[in-house]
Amino acid sequence: GPALLFAKTSQGKEEGRRFYACSACRDRKDCNFFQWEDEKVSEARLAAREEYNRNHQPPFTHRENVGRYKSFLLLPLSKRRFCQECQQLLLPAEWEKHSDHQFLCDITTAQLKSPSQLLYPLENKKTNAQYLFADRSCQFLLNLLTDLGFRRVLSVGTPRLHEMIQSKASQEEEFSVRSLLLDIDFRYSQFYTEDEFCHYNMFNHHFFGGEAAHETCRKFLHEENGEKVIMVTDPPFGGLVEALASSFKKLMAMWREIEKEGHAKEEMPMFWIFPYFFESRILDFFPSFSMMDYQVDYDNHALYKHGKTGRRQSPVRIFTNLTPSLIVLPEEEGYRFCTICQRYVSPGNQHCEICNSCTSKDGRRWKHCALCKKCVKPSWFHCNNCNCCTLQKHSCEKTDVGCFVCGKAGHKRSSCPSLSCP
Ligand code: SAH
Ligand code: ZN
Ligand code: ZN
Ligand code: ZN
Ligand code: ZN
Repeated sequence: GPALLFAKTSQGKEEGRRFYACSACRDRKDCNFFQWEDEKVSEARLAAREEYNRNHQPPFTHRENVGRYKSFLLLPLSKRRFCQECQQLLLPAEWEKHSDHQFLCDITTAQLKSPSQLLYPLENKKTNAQYLFADRSCQFLLNLLTDLGFRRVLSVGTPRLHEMIQSKASQEEEFSVRSLLLDIDFRYSQFYTEDEFCHYNMFNHHFFGGEAAHETCRKFLHEENGEKVIMVTDPPFGGLVEALASSFKKLMAMWREIEKEGHAKEEMPMFWIFPYFFESRILDFFPSFSMMDYQVDYDNHALYKHGKTGRRQSPVRIFTNLTPSLIVLPEEEGYRFCTICQRYVSPGNQHCEICNSCTSKDGRRWKHCALCKKCVKPSWFHCNNCNCCTLQKHSCEKTDVGCFVCGKAGHKRSSCPSLSCP
Protein backbone atom coordinates (compact mmCIF):
# COMPACT_ATOMS: atom_id res chain seq x y z
CA GLY A 1 0.00 0.00 0.00
CA PRO A 2 0.91 3.68 0.06
CA ALA A 3 4.20 4.74 1.64
CA LEU A 4 4.32 7.24 4.49
CA LEU A 5 5.90 10.67 4.22
CA PHE A 6 8.59 11.12 6.86
CA ALA A 7 10.45 14.18 8.08
CA LYS A 8 13.51 14.32 10.27
CA THR A 9 13.04 16.62 13.22
CA SER A 10 15.45 18.07 15.67
CA GLN A 11 14.37 20.10 18.69
CA GLY A 12 10.82 19.89 17.43
CA LYS A 13 11.73 21.51 14.12
CA GLU A 14 11.61 19.82 10.76
CA GLU A 15 14.97 19.52 9.11
CA GLY A 16 16.09 18.60 5.65
CA ARG A 17 14.35 16.87 2.81
CA ARG A 18 11.23 14.85 3.44
CA PHE A 19 11.03 11.31 2.11
CA TYR A 20 8.69 8.41 1.52
CA ALA A 21 9.34 5.04 3.13
CA CYS A 22 7.43 1.84 3.71
CA SER A 23 4.64 2.23 6.27
CA ALA A 24 4.79 -1.31 7.59
CA CYS A 25 8.52 -2.07 7.79
CA ARG A 26 10.54 0.20 9.97
CA ASP A 27 13.70 -1.64 9.09
CA ARG A 28 15.21 -0.91 5.70
CA LYS A 29 16.38 -4.52 5.62
CA ASP A 30 12.75 -5.67 5.40
CA CYS A 31 11.72 -3.20 2.73
CA ASN A 32 14.16 -0.95 0.97
CA PHE A 33 11.63 1.42 -0.57
CA PHE A 34 12.92 4.97 -0.32
CA GLN A 35 12.02 8.05 -2.30
CA TRP A 36 12.63 11.76 -1.72
CA GLU A 37 9.42 13.76 -1.64
CA ASP A 38 10.51 16.01 -4.50
CA GLU A 39 12.29 13.32 -6.47
CA LYS A 40 11.52 12.80 -10.15
CA VAL A 41 11.04 9.07 -10.69
CA SER A 42 12.12 7.78 -14.08
CA GLU A 43 9.92 5.46 -16.13
CA ALA A 44 12.59 2.79 -15.81
CA ARG A 45 12.64 2.92 -12.03
CA LEU A 46 8.87 2.87 -11.87
CA ALA A 47 8.79 -0.18 -14.12
CA ALA A 48 11.45 -1.88 -12.01
CA ARG A 49 9.44 -1.27 -8.85
CA GLU A 50 6.28 -2.62 -10.45
CA GLU A 51 8.19 -5.66 -11.61
CA TYR A 52 9.58 -6.16 -8.12
CA ASN A 53 6.10 -5.94 -6.60
CA ARG A 54 4.71 -8.42 -9.11
CA ASN A 55 7.44 -10.87 -8.20
CA HIS A 56 6.81 -10.54 -4.50
CA GLN A 57 3.15 -11.49 -4.37
CA PRO A 58 2.05 -14.40 -2.20
CA PRO A 59 1.89 -17.72 -4.12
CA PHE A 60 -1.89 -17.90 -3.90
CA THR A 61 -4.66 -15.32 -3.68
CA HIS A 62 -7.03 -15.30 -0.72
CA ARG A 63 -9.78 -16.76 -2.92
CA GLU A 64 -7.46 -19.57 -4.01
CA ASN A 65 -6.49 -20.25 -0.42
CA VAL A 66 -10.14 -20.60 0.56
CA GLY A 67 -10.58 -23.23 -2.15
CA ARG A 68 -7.43 -25.03 -1.04
CA TYR A 69 -8.66 -25.10 2.55
CA LYS A 70 -11.89 -26.79 1.41
CA SER A 71 -9.91 -29.43 -0.46
CA PHE A 72 -7.63 -29.87 2.51
CA LEU A 73 -10.59 -30.58 4.80
CA LEU A 74 -11.69 -33.40 2.51
CA LEU A 75 -8.34 -35.17 2.82
CA PRO A 76 -7.92 -38.08 5.22
CA LEU A 77 -5.73 -37.24 8.22
CA SER A 78 -2.80 -39.16 6.76
CA LYS A 79 -2.68 -36.81 3.79
CA ARG A 80 -2.86 -33.55 5.67
CA ARG A 81 0.53 -31.88 5.67
CA PHE A 82 1.71 -28.44 6.62
CA CYS A 83 5.04 -27.15 5.33
CA GLN A 84 6.83 -25.41 8.17
CA GLU A 85 9.32 -23.75 5.91
CA CYS A 86 6.74 -22.24 3.55
CA GLN A 87 4.12 -21.93 6.33
CA GLN A 88 1.63 -23.44 3.98
CA LEU A 89 -0.99 -26.18 3.92
CA LEU A 90 0.05 -28.68 1.26
CA LEU A 91 -2.14 -30.62 -1.13
CA PRO A 92 -0.78 -34.08 -2.06
CA ALA A 93 0.20 -32.97 -5.56
CA GLU A 94 2.57 -30.41 -4.00
CA TRP A 95 4.45 -32.73 -1.64
CA GLU A 96 7.11 -33.35 -4.23
CA LYS A 97 8.04 -29.68 -4.47
CA HIS A 98 8.50 -29.45 -0.68
CA SER A 99 10.22 -32.78 -0.26
CA ASP A 100 13.33 -31.31 1.35
CA HIS A 101 11.33 -29.03 3.66
CA GLN A 102 10.33 -29.75 7.24
CA PHE A 103 6.64 -30.49 7.51
CA LEU A 104 3.99 -31.47 10.06
CA CYS A 105 1.76 -34.51 9.39
CA ASP A 106 -1.74 -35.51 10.40
CA ILE A 107 -3.05 -31.97 10.77
CA THR A 108 -6.27 -32.26 12.76
CA THR A 109 -9.36 -30.11 12.42
CA ALA A 110 -8.57 -28.74 15.89
CA GLN A 111 -5.17 -27.59 14.61
CA LEU A 112 -6.80 -25.93 11.64
CA LYS A 113 -9.00 -24.05 14.07
CA SER A 114 -6.03 -22.64 15.95
CA PRO A 115 -3.76 -21.33 13.22
CA SER A 116 -1.91 -19.11 15.71
CA GLN A 117 -0.53 -22.31 17.26
CA LEU A 118 0.30 -23.87 13.91
CA LEU A 119 2.02 -20.88 12.35
CA TYR A 120 5.20 -19.71 13.97
CA PRO A 121 4.96 -16.22 15.43
CA LEU A 122 6.68 -13.61 13.27
CA GLU A 123 8.81 -12.15 16.01
CA ASN A 124 10.76 -9.90 13.68
CA LYS A 125 10.75 -7.01 16.10
CA LYS A 126 10.46 -4.16 13.70
CA THR A 127 7.86 -5.43 11.27
CA ASN A 128 5.38 -7.96 12.55
CA ALA A 129 6.28 -8.20 16.21
CA GLN A 130 3.75 -10.95 16.67
CA TYR A 131 3.28 -11.40 20.38
CA LEU A 132 0.39 -13.71 21.14
CA PHE A 133 -1.88 -13.25 24.13
CA ALA A 134 -1.47 -15.67 26.99
CA ASP A 135 -4.64 -17.68 27.41
CA ARG A 136 -5.43 -15.89 30.66
CA SER A 137 -5.42 -12.46 28.97
CA CYS A 138 -7.28 -13.62 25.89
CA GLN A 139 -10.03 -15.23 28.04
CA PHE A 140 -10.23 -12.08 30.12
CA LEU A 141 -10.65 -9.83 27.07
CA LEU A 142 -13.30 -12.06 25.57
CA ASN A 143 -15.28 -12.34 28.83
CA LEU A 144 -15.00 -8.62 29.36
CA LEU A 145 -16.42 -7.71 26.00
CA THR A 146 -19.20 -10.29 26.05
CA ASP A 147 -20.19 -9.17 29.57
CA LEU A 148 -20.39 -5.65 28.19
CA GLY A 149 -22.89 -6.92 25.62
CA PHE A 150 -20.77 -6.81 22.48
CA ARG A 151 -21.62 -9.32 19.79
CA ARG A 152 -19.21 -8.37 17.01
CA VAL A 153 -15.48 -7.78 17.33
CA LEU A 154 -13.32 -6.05 14.74
CA SER A 155 -10.02 -7.74 15.54
CA VAL A 156 -7.23 -5.53 14.20
CA GLY A 157 -3.93 -7.35 14.64
CA THR A 158 -5.39 -9.74 17.22
CA PRO A 159 -5.36 -13.16 15.51
CA ARG A 160 -5.48 -15.09 18.75
CA LEU A 161 -8.57 -13.27 20.02
CA HIS A 162 -10.19 -13.82 16.62
CA GLU A 163 -9.35 -17.50 16.80
CA MET A 164 -10.76 -17.88 20.31
CA ILE A 165 -14.03 -16.27 19.20
CA GLN A 166 -14.27 -18.40 16.06
CA SER A 167 -13.66 -21.68 17.81
CA LYS A 168 -16.02 -20.88 20.69
CA ALA A 169 -18.73 -19.93 18.20
CA SER A 170 -18.32 -23.22 16.37
CA GLN A 171 -18.42 -25.26 19.58
CA GLU A 172 -21.02 -23.58 21.78
CA GLU A 173 -24.47 -22.98 20.46
CA GLU A 174 -25.39 -20.13 22.80
CA PHE A 175 -22.20 -18.26 22.00
CA SER A 176 -23.16 -15.78 19.30
CA VAL A 177 -20.13 -13.49 19.06
CA ARG A 178 -18.51 -13.00 15.65
CA SER A 179 -15.18 -11.56 14.68
CA LEU A 180 -13.58 -10.07 11.57
CA LEU A 181 -9.78 -10.21 11.56
CA LEU A 182 -7.78 -7.43 9.90
CA ASP A 183 -4.08 -8.24 9.82
CA ILE A 184 -1.03 -7.86 7.61
CA ASP A 185 -0.06 -11.51 8.12
CA PHE A 186 -1.34 -13.08 4.91
CA ARG A 187 -0.69 -16.61 6.17
CA TYR A 188 -4.06 -16.37 7.92
CA SER A 189 -5.86 -16.29 4.55
CA GLN A 190 -5.27 -20.05 4.41
CA PHE A 191 -7.62 -20.58 7.34
CA TYR A 192 -10.35 -17.95 7.02
CA THR A 193 -12.84 -16.94 4.34
CA GLU A 194 -13.02 -13.48 2.87
CA ASP A 195 -15.80 -12.69 5.36
CA GLU A 196 -13.60 -13.61 8.31
CA PHE A 197 -10.22 -12.14 7.38
CA CYS A 198 -9.05 -9.09 5.44
CA HIS A 199 -5.41 -8.57 4.55
CA TYR A 200 -4.93 -5.09 5.99
CA ASN A 201 -2.15 -2.65 6.85
CA MET A 202 -2.97 -0.67 9.98
CA PHE A 203 -0.26 1.92 9.38
CA ASN A 204 -1.85 3.29 6.23
CA HIS A 205 -5.39 1.87 6.37
CA HIS A 206 -4.79 -0.15 3.23
CA PHE A 207 -7.02 -3.09 2.32
CA PHE A 208 -5.02 -5.36 0.02
CA GLY A 209 -8.26 -6.92 -1.20
CA GLY A 210 -9.42 -3.59 -2.64
CA GLU A 211 -12.97 -2.29 -2.65
CA ALA A 212 -14.50 -5.73 -1.98
CA ALA A 213 -12.54 -6.09 1.27
CA HIS A 214 -13.38 -2.52 2.22
CA GLU A 215 -17.02 -3.37 1.75
CA THR A 216 -16.71 -6.52 3.88
CA CYS A 217 -15.39 -4.42 6.73
CA ARG A 218 -18.01 -1.70 6.25
CA LYS A 219 -20.83 -4.25 6.23
CA PHE A 220 -19.51 -5.90 9.37
CA LEU A 221 -19.42 -2.58 11.21
CA HIS A 222 -22.88 -1.60 10.02
CA GLU A 223 -24.73 -4.76 11.00
CA GLU A 224 -27.43 -4.30 13.63
CA ASN A 225 -27.32 -0.59 12.92
CA GLY A 226 -23.73 -0.39 14.10
CA GLU A 227 -24.61 -1.49 17.62
CA LYS A 228 -22.88 -4.14 19.74
CA VAL A 229 -19.63 -3.84 17.82
CA ILE A 230 -16.23 -3.14 19.37
CA MET A 231 -12.81 -2.80 17.82
CA VAL A 232 -9.90 -4.50 19.59
CA THR A 233 -6.37 -3.80 18.42
CA ASP A 234 -2.90 -4.81 19.61
CA PRO A 235 -0.41 -3.17 17.23
CA PRO A 236 3.36 -3.73 17.19
CA PHE A 237 4.77 -1.57 19.96
CA GLY A 238 7.42 -0.02 17.78
CA GLY A 239 4.69 1.39 15.55
CA LEU A 240 4.17 5.06 14.96
CA VAL A 241 1.27 6.13 17.16
CA GLU A 242 0.39 8.92 14.73
CA ALA A 243 0.01 6.54 11.78
CA LEU A 244 -1.98 4.05 13.84
CA ALA A 245 -4.28 6.75 15.20
CA SER A 246 -4.95 8.03 11.70
CA SER A 247 -5.98 4.55 10.52
CA PHE A 248 -8.11 3.89 13.59
CA LYS A 249 -9.89 7.19 13.05
CA LYS A 250 -10.68 6.04 9.52
CA LEU A 251 -12.12 2.77 10.84
CA MET A 252 -14.16 4.78 13.34
CA ALA A 253 -15.36 7.03 10.53
CA MET A 254 -16.38 3.97 8.55
CA TRP A 255 -18.54 2.85 11.48
CA ARG A 256 -20.01 6.34 11.82
CA GLU A 257 -21.16 6.41 8.18
CA ILE A 258 -24.38 4.71 9.27
CA GLU A 259 -27.28 7.03 8.91
CA LYS A 260 -28.76 7.16 12.32
CA GLU A 261 -30.18 9.94 14.41
CA GLY A 262 -28.06 11.16 17.29
CA HIS A 263 -25.12 9.06 16.21
CA ALA A 264 -23.00 11.98 15.17
CA LYS A 265 -21.05 12.51 18.37
CA GLU A 266 -20.64 8.88 19.36
CA GLU A 267 -17.41 6.97 18.93
CA MET A 268 -17.10 3.33 18.00
CA PRO A 269 -16.14 1.48 21.20
CA MET A 270 -12.51 0.46 21.15
CA PHE A 271 -9.81 -1.36 23.11
CA TRP A 272 -6.32 -0.31 22.07
CA ILE A 273 -3.75 -2.54 23.72
CA PHE A 274 -0.40 -0.79 24.10
CA PRO A 275 2.36 -0.13 26.68
CA TYR A 276 1.61 2.38 29.41
CA PHE A 277 4.49 4.66 28.44
CA PHE A 278 2.57 5.60 25.32
CA GLU A 279 -0.31 6.97 27.39
CA SER A 280 0.24 10.63 26.62
CA ARG A 281 0.78 9.92 22.91
CA ILE A 282 -2.48 8.00 22.67
CA LEU A 283 -4.39 10.65 24.63
CA ASP A 284 -3.03 13.30 22.23
CA PHE A 285 -4.94 11.62 19.44
CA PHE A 286 -7.85 10.18 21.43
CA PRO A 287 -8.65 12.49 24.35
CA SER A 288 -11.72 10.42 25.22
CA PHE A 289 -9.58 7.38 26.04
CA SER A 290 -8.41 6.26 29.45
CA MET A 291 -5.85 3.70 30.46
CA MET A 292 -6.86 0.67 32.49
CA ASP A 293 -4.55 -0.94 35.06
CA TYR A 294 -4.99 -4.49 33.72
CA GLN A 295 -1.66 -6.03 32.73
CA VAL A 296 -1.90 -7.87 29.41
CA ASP A 297 0.31 -10.95 29.23
CA TYR A 298 1.85 -12.74 26.27
CA ASP A 299 2.85 -16.31 25.53
CA ASN A 300 5.99 -15.82 23.51
CA HIS A 301 7.33 -12.69 25.12
CA ALA A 302 10.00 -13.42 27.70
CA LEU A 303 9.36 -10.16 29.50
CA TYR A 304 5.62 -9.91 29.48
CA LYS A 305 4.83 -13.34 30.75
CA HIS A 306 2.65 -14.08 33.72
CA GLY A 307 4.53 -16.37 36.09
CA LYS A 308 3.25 -17.89 39.33
CA THR A 309 6.26 -16.81 41.30
CA GLY A 310 8.29 -13.70 40.76
CA ARG A 311 5.88 -12.48 38.18
CA ARG A 312 7.36 -9.96 35.86
CA GLN A 313 5.14 -7.00 35.41
CA SER A 314 3.87 -6.50 31.91
CA PRO A 315 3.88 -2.85 30.78
CA VAL A 316 1.01 -3.49 28.37
CA ARG A 317 -2.38 -1.97 29.14
CA ILE A 318 -5.85 -1.49 27.67
CA PHE A 319 -6.77 1.98 26.44
CA THR A 320 -10.49 2.47 25.95
CA ASN A 321 -13.17 5.05 25.24
CA LEU A 322 -15.70 3.11 27.33
CA THR A 323 -16.55 4.40 30.81
CA PRO A 324 -13.70 3.20 33.07
CA SER A 325 -16.04 1.99 35.84
CA LEU A 326 -17.52 -0.54 33.39
CA ILE A 327 -14.18 -2.27 32.90
CA VAL A 328 -14.29 -4.82 35.71
CA LEU A 329 -10.84 -6.25 36.45
CA PRO A 330 -10.40 -9.69 38.08
CA GLU A 331 -10.48 -9.41 41.86
CA GLU A 332 -8.87 -12.83 42.20
CA GLU A 333 -5.75 -11.26 40.69
CA GLY A 334 -5.82 -8.49 43.27
CA TYR A 335 -7.40 -5.69 41.28
CA ARG A 336 -9.81 -3.60 43.35
CA PHE A 337 -12.27 -0.79 42.75
CA CYS A 338 -11.25 2.74 43.77
CA THR A 339 -14.50 4.53 44.57
CA ILE A 340 -12.94 7.96 44.18
CA CYS A 341 -11.35 7.27 40.79
CA GLN A 342 -14.35 5.15 39.77
CA ARG A 343 -12.19 2.50 38.17
CA TYR A 344 -10.44 -0.77 38.98
CA VAL A 345 -6.79 -0.41 39.92
CA SER A 346 -3.75 -2.65 40.49
CA PRO A 347 -3.24 -4.10 43.97
CA GLY A 348 -0.21 -1.86 44.50
CA ASN A 349 -1.81 1.30 43.18
CA GLN A 350 -2.48 3.59 46.15
CA HIS A 351 -4.85 6.50 45.91
CA CYS A 352 -2.76 9.67 46.38
CA GLU A 353 -4.61 12.26 48.48
CA ILE A 354 -2.68 15.15 46.96
CA CYS A 355 -3.03 14.18 43.30
CA ASN A 356 -6.50 12.85 44.14
CA SER A 357 -5.93 9.91 41.87
CA CYS A 358 -4.53 6.40 41.79
CA THR A 359 -1.30 7.44 40.14
CA SER A 360 0.78 4.31 39.61
CA LYS A 361 1.31 3.40 35.97
CA ASP A 362 3.44 0.29 36.36
CA GLY A 363 1.58 -1.43 39.20
CA ARG A 364 4.11 -0.61 41.90
CA ARG A 365 3.26 1.85 44.65
CA TRP A 366 4.35 5.33 43.55
CA LYS A 367 5.34 8.14 45.92
CA HIS A 368 4.33 11.76 45.87
CA CYS A 369 7.03 14.39 45.35
CA ALA A 370 6.01 17.74 46.80
CA LEU A 371 8.55 19.63 44.69
CA CYS A 372 7.47 18.05 41.38
CA LYS A 373 3.88 18.23 42.56
CA LYS A 374 3.16 14.76 41.27
CA CYS A 375 3.63 11.09 42.02
CA VAL A 376 6.76 9.41 40.70
CA LYS A 377 8.22 5.91 40.44
CA PRO A 378 9.35 4.43 43.79
CA SER A 379 12.95 4.21 42.55
CA TRP A 380 13.19 7.92 41.78
CA PHE A 381 14.61 10.76 43.88
CA HIS A 382 14.26 14.46 43.56
CA CYS A 383 17.42 15.95 42.10
CA ASN A 384 17.83 19.62 42.99
CA ASN A 385 20.24 20.12 40.12
CA CYS A 386 17.89 18.87 37.45
CA ASN A 387 14.91 20.21 39.37
CA CYS A 388 12.92 17.06 38.83
CA CYS A 389 12.65 13.48 39.98
CA THR A 390 14.85 10.92 38.27
CA LEU A 391 16.96 7.85 38.95
CA GLN A 392 19.55 8.42 41.64
CA LYS A 393 22.22 7.35 39.19
CA HIS A 394 22.07 9.94 36.44
CA SER A 395 24.29 12.63 35.06
CA CYS A 396 23.04 16.09 35.94
CA GLU A 397 22.81 17.75 32.59
CA LYS A 398 19.89 19.19 30.82
CA THR A 399 19.87 17.10 27.68
CA ASP A 400 18.12 18.08 24.50
CA VAL A 401 15.09 16.17 23.36
CA GLY A 402 14.72 12.72 24.81
CA CYS A 403 13.52 9.51 23.26
CA PHE A 404 10.24 9.85 21.47
CA VAL A 405 8.85 6.77 23.20
CA CYS A 406 9.90 6.99 26.84
CA GLY A 407 11.07 10.60 26.97
CA LYS A 408 14.47 9.67 28.37
CA ALA A 409 17.65 11.07 26.94
CA GLY A 410 20.55 9.13 25.48
CA HIS A 411 18.86 7.07 22.82
CA LYS A 412 16.45 7.32 19.91
CA ARG A 413 13.03 5.69 19.69
CA SER A 414 14.39 2.99 17.40
CA SER A 415 16.62 1.71 20.17
CA CYS A 416 14.37 2.47 23.14
CA PRO A 417 15.01 -0.18 25.80
CA SER A 418 11.39 -0.16 26.86
CA LEU A 419 10.39 -1.58 23.49
CA SER A 420 12.64 -4.56 23.22
CA CYS A 421 13.41 -7.55 25.32
CA PRO A 422 17.07 -7.76 26.26
N1 SAH B 1 -1.67 -10.20 20.97
C1 SAH B 1 -2.26 -10.39 19.68
C2 SAH B 1 -1.22 -10.30 18.60
C3 SAH B 1 -0.54 -8.95 18.59
S1 SAH B 1 0.97 -8.97 17.72
C4 SAH B 1 -2.96 -11.74 19.67
O1 SAH B 1 -2.54 -12.64 20.41
O2 SAH B 1 -3.96 -11.91 18.96
C5 SAH B 1 0.71 -7.77 16.48
C6 SAH B 1 -0.19 -8.23 15.36
O3 SAH B 1 -0.27 -7.17 14.44
C7 SAH B 1 0.33 -9.43 14.60
O4 SAH B 1 -0.72 -10.33 14.34
C8 SAH B 1 0.88 -8.85 13.31
O5 SAH B 1 0.79 -9.73 12.20
C9 SAH B 1 -0.02 -7.66 13.12
N2 SAH B 1 0.60 -6.56 12.37
C10 SAH B 1 1.89 -6.15 12.38
N3 SAH B 1 2.06 -5.11 11.55
C11 SAH B 1 0.84 -4.86 11.01
C12 SAH B 1 0.37 -3.91 10.06
N4 SAH B 1 1.18 -3.01 9.52
N5 SAH B 1 -0.93 -3.94 9.72
C13 SAH B 1 -1.77 -4.86 10.26
N6 SAH B 1 -1.38 -5.79 11.14
C14 SAH B 1 -0.09 -5.78 11.52
ZN1 ZN C 1 7.90 -25.98 1.64
ZN1 ZN D 1 -8.05 6.29 43.29
ZN1 ZN E 1 0.57 12.27 44.18
ZN1 ZN F 1 10.60 15.54 42.41
